[in-house]
Amino acid sequence: MFRGFSGGVHPPENKLTEEFAIAVMPPPKKVYIHFSQHTGKPARSLVEKGDVVKIGERIGEGDGFISASVHASISGKIIAIESCPHPVLGTSLCCVIESTNGAKWKDTIKEKTDYEKKSKEELLQIIKESGIVGLGGAAFPTHVKLSPPSDKPIDTLIVNGCECEPMLTADHRLMLEHPAEIIEGAKIFRKILNAENLIFGIEDNKKDAAEILRKQSVNVKLLKTKYPQGAEKQLIKALLGREVPRGGLPMDVGCVVQNVGTCYAAFQAVKYRKPLIERVVTVTGTAVKKPKNLLIRIGCPVIDVVNFCGGYIRQPKQIIFGGPMMGIAQYSENVPTIKGTSGIMVCKDTVIPEEGPCVRCASCVDVCPMGLMATEIYKFVDNKNFSKAKEYGVLDCIECGCCAYSCPSRIPLVHYLKFGKSEIWRLSKK
Ligand code: SF4
Ligand code: SF4
Repeated sequence: MFRGFSGGVHPPENKLTEEFAIAVMPPPKKVYIHFSQHTGKPARSLVEKGDVVKIGERIGEGDGFISASVHASISGKIIAIESCPHPVLGTSLCCVIESTNGAKWKDTIKEKTDYEKKSKEELLQIIKESGIVGLGGAAFPTHVKLSPPSDKPIDTLIVNGCECEPMLTADHRLMLEHPAEIIEGAKIFRKILNAENLIFGIEDNKKDAAEILRKQSVNVKLLKTKYPQGAEKQLIKALLGREVPRGGLPMDVGCVVQNVGTCYAAFQAVKYRKPLIERVVTVTGTAVKKPKNLLIRIGCPVIDVVNFCGGYIRQPKQIIFGGPMMGIAQYSENVPTIKGTSGIMVCKDTVIPEEGPCVRCASCVDVCPMGLMATEIYKFVDNKNFSKAKEYGVLDCIECGCCAYSCPSRIPLVHYLKFGKSEIWRLSKK
């Protein structure tokens, strides 16, 4: 029987690429590796212009408690360390590597290791050194998530295979094509956390993936296809009936949630000592000739990805990183993929509807999975009354976009809420 969370929406799924096996894109000629690809402090550069690097070499070291290392995704020469387009931050410090010396891997990368004998501490250290972050989108450093304080014991590890964003199919394909590696990665996480239970949560539009995982004797729960089923707090509520407190984290209710792609990346890191240098990305939309699920090197410019997919059908009006609900519009064809890039949507049209006045219909309130009153909060933000926005819970907003999706007046509510959150953080830092 399905349990659920309150609120949420049912946008058209449009998962055009769900039948397409993961293809491998050859390494690009040039990559742009950002030092900030994760939640937290940017990595500290370990290299200089002119240095020659191999694939998998660490070029930036995690700096501080919440940070992650970054690695070269191709071998070659560092031709610049400079500010470049960034898919989330606008621009950011970046290491530009040009391929000059063929595909040379760092020699610490092994064919296999006897990782089963490693202690929890050793496994955690490998995951940290490999720059693994949450691949569901938030890119939170995985080693931090796997290190809850001792007064927060974890009894359940949830593996998130929901992929509730419309149009994206990368996680679905990964579950169909690499179930054993995902399960092994999840077992590594469970060992580190000392968690008794391991549950896979998958939406019921991916029954084939659930079936494949079940055949390998893991506990899989099918969940109703509803957006944002894959948001951590909603997933915990749907699977376990536990409510993460306001302002709290999953560890407050004994849980850690990891995405299927993160499990796969951790397995690669632990078994082969392969750092996070590539990931599966769904390339889709109305303006790209051959949509695909692609294994892409981190730092690959979006124009190279589109060209590998046959080019444009026609010049796109919009390129979005992520899915249609939470994705971010890009302003340059040269923007590179980062660790958190789950999808690239190339769209022939932009739909920028005209914003109308609020008609007090309360749709935004009905669909909010966090129980927030977006209609009130956006007005507080618009009037720069940030303390009132905070009082009404703006910091609990998970930026899922359900409110804006359901608003008949096409008010870009999420933009207001995101802005309100960033202003509150900025003012509190001051
Ligand atoms: S207010 Fe935030 S959490 Fe609620 S629906 Fe809007 S974006 Fe989602
Ligand atoms: S959905 Fe839009 S129009 Fe309706 S109450 Fe919310 S902000 Fe106002």
